[in-house]
Amino acid sequence: MSDDCVFCRISRGELPAKIVLEDEEALAFRDLNPQAPTHLLVIPRRHVESVDALEPSDQALAGHLLLLARKAAREEGLSEAGYRVVANIGSEGGQTVAHLHLHVLGGRPMSWPPG
Ligand code: 5GP
Ligand code: ZN
Repeated sequence: MSDDCVFCRISRGELPAKIVLEDEEALAFRDLNPQAPTHLLVIPRRHVESVDALEPSDQALAGHLLLLARKAAREEGLSEAGYRVVANIGSEGGQTVAHLHLHVLGGRPMSWPPG
């Protein structure tokens, strides 16, 4: 847990967010600055800095986050057309919030490679 981490504060209900799914371990909410018609963020409640900070003991949590991303995408109606799940890691990876999050993007065709 981190007092000044924006995603920890969302997880604790101290900052508002449009939450679409939540449970004891994790939550999914809408990105403040969406890059696609549907843009969700899936985060663990526990403060983990990034995918790179995951430990072998976090295996269940890592799987849980992916399955929550899948569940949120299904509920948003993205499964048939397809969607993208992305984790930015560190400065060259484009990570701006240092609390692990999966982006779930959908509702338009995605290009590759990413910028
Ligand atoms: P990153 O660049 O770290 O991969 O992604 C961080 C994401 O968090 C960005 O897409 C940004 O729009 C989103 N974001 C930053 N602050 C907030 C916030 O306070 N609320 C919500 N809902 N999204 C945020
Ligand atoms: Zn945090």
